[in-house]
Amino acid sequence: MIEIGVGTRTAWLLGHPVGHSVSPAMHNAAYQAMGLDLVYLAADVEPDGLKTAIAGLRRLGFAGANVTIPHKEKVAALVDELRGPARLLGAVNTVWAEGARLIGYNTDAEGWLAAWDEHVGLPLGNRKAIVLGAGGAARGLLWALSRRDVRDVLVMNRSHPRACELIDELGPLLGLEARAAVLDNDLFANELRPGCVVINTTPLGMAPHPERSPVEWPRVLPDGVVACDLIYNPVSPRFLASPRRHGAPVMGGLGMLVYQAARAIELWTGRKPPRGLMRSAALKSLRNRYRP
Ligand code: NAP
Repeated sequence: MIEIGVGTRTAWLLGHPVGHSVSPAMHNAAYQAMGLDLVYLAADVEPDGLKTAIAGLRRLGFAGANVTIPHKEKVAALVDELRGPARLLGAVNTVWAEGARLIGYNTDAEGWLAAWDEHVGLPLGNRKAIVLGAGGAARGLLWALSRRDVRDVLVMNRSHPRACELIDELGPLLGLEARAAVLDNDLFANELRPGCVVINTTPLGMAPHPERSPVEWPRVLPDGVVACDLIYNPVSPRFLASPRRHGAPVMGGLGMLVYQAARAIELWTGRKPPRGLMRSAALKSLRNRYRP
């Protein structure tokens, strides 16, 4: 049980909806283990209430806040300064106050890179990347890939114009040789190359529809393919099943989830939280939430 006293500070998750989130479980487990007098709370904030919610945080004081769907872009205009990847991405998932100034940061892309290093542990540079989806998470992924000298990127999306917009905007800024294509099984199979890294950033395969997949894999995989999915619920999304059977390295979204939260705590407190404990807390919360 979390003890709340007069000196207890608050950290927040602002999103809509937030009822499914495992972030409170991860954060509160970390705070307790770190001996912080801090509690993490989730607030369901509808889009037209975001400005008021941010003004409320400013007025009441807070240790930090995370921002999730659908507020990541809108909150970028409500803080006083953007730092790190948020400057280029225009999307914020982490906020804190320095005096009267609100700082906006984005820990998602750094979280994915840290998860890659821990769970895949192979060099990324010079691989061809196929990014499935062209939403907010794909933006962060393009930033992350460019940091590791990935240049050849294909963005495949249901809406072709949206993929084109994404690469037209970020390609030149990040120095990517990026192309856009529509999400299609045959095209996907034709684009796969040895050593390719493929990342699903669409929600296809997420509970309550774990049977879905953004594309089907060909029966024979080129050597050295690495398959990633940002979905963490289920922990092993269907998109990763075929590459796993072929013996290819695979990475789901749980590592990224834990690392983006750990980086936020580090930015708020200056201390590194216990990631193993956070991962266990996230898994426990997922099991409780989605028990069939
Ligand atoms: P978003 O901005 O709404 O983008 C969603 C993308 O998925 C768009 O490209 C959309 O295509 C595509 N899509 C949605 N439904 C589809 C369908 N039925 N068929 C084909 N394509 C579809 O969302 P986001 O913020 O990028 O998040 C995407 C996923 O990443 C979510 O599952 C989220 O949970 C996950 N995520 C995980 C982490 C983590 O820490 N592991 C962090 C961030 C996000 P259109 O453009 O055609 O609509």
